[in-house]
Amino acid sequence: MKTFNIIIFTVIISLCFISCGQKQSSHTEFALGTVCSVTLFEQSEKSIYNEVFSRIREIENLMSVNIPSSDISRVNAAAGTEPVIVHEETFKVIERALYYAEFSGGAFDLTVGPLVSLWGIGKEEQRIPLRQEILDALPLINWRNVELDRQKKSVFLKIKGMSLDLGAIAKGYAADEAVKIIKRGGVKRAIIDLGGNIVVLGEKKDGSLWNVGIQNPDKNRGDVIGFLQLTEKTIVTSGVYERFFEENNQRYHHLFDPSRGYPAKNGLLSVTLITDISMDADALSTALFVLGYEEGKKLIASLPGTEAFFVFEDRSIIMTDGINFTLTDKTFYIKNIL
Ligand code: AMP
Ligand code: MG
Repeated sequence: MKTFNIIIFTVIISLCFISCGQKQSSHTEFALGTVCSVTLFEQSEKSIYNEVFSRIREIENLMSVNIPSSDISRVNAAAGTEPVIVHEETFKVIERALYYAEFSGGAFDLTVGPLVSLWGIGKEEQRIPLRQEILDALPLINWRNVELDRQKKSVFLKIKGMSLDLGAIAKGYAADEAVKIIKRGGVKRAIIDLGGNIVVLGEKKDGSLWNVGIQNPDKNRGDVIGFLQLTEKTIVTSGVYERFFEENNQRYHHLFDPSRGYPAKNGLLSVTLITDISMDADALSTALFVLGYEEGKKLIASLPGTEAFFVFEDRSIIMTDGINFTLTDKTFYIKNIL
């Protein structure tokens, strides 16, 4: 839990500057366990930022496993004992997470909580668990053991020790909610970035498309392999570089294969999803990463309007044909366009 104590040091950087003759401002806070930033172009009333960030906090207070009073913490504490009534929107996100669990054949599984705790990736206590610990945790990981009561809006985890983790979907939901507030405020051009869950609205002042970088999975944040050109889309990446530790020349990252209990290892470094709804892109990026390329490709083919961009360990790239991408790091290469 130590990592999340960073919240205490919440950095609120509020910048307001004039760039290229246009008013632009951005606001960054640490929330949802990550760095969240919002940039509004032209209209940049403080009230919109305030509304967006208090909404993000509201979602964090409902869905974070690191806040003991959150809906998710309460559901987890009552696992194997009793159903817990949750807020309508927590219920909605859990329902959507269950939908993606089924859709991905369990590659995306909101009940990965015990694995997240056991490995502690990104926290001080991170370590490779004993084989027996993983074997003991596996029976607790199964989305089918989440029981919902739609009337009462209650959630019940059937086995003691089970726990939910919405880390793979809640940021997407928060990004969608931020978009609603920004649009309601009359802002047409904006960039929302909630720890890599990106939404771009409108276009650049000269009418051209936004350039959104694809992170180089081997390098520091901000080092990109190329740019997507797009607008009015959400771009969400799941990658091995987000949270990991290395031991014996092996990288242990935060995207778990729920059937094995280990970080998914299938030749992928990252998967980026591009679509309209950030919550969907968030769940799908995690699902596709865990499924791997061959299975992921089949899922994507069944989703019109959704594009995917796969980066592999051998530095090859495969993407769907609706993507407008310019490669800048020539140590990578485009192998195939689906
Ligand atoms: P993302 O960056 O959206 O891919 O989400 C990664 C986070 O989701 C991890 O830090 C875990 O909290 C959680 N997670 C890890 N593996 C899975 C999985 N197979 N299904 C659902 N959530 C997962
Ligand atoms: Mg995700």
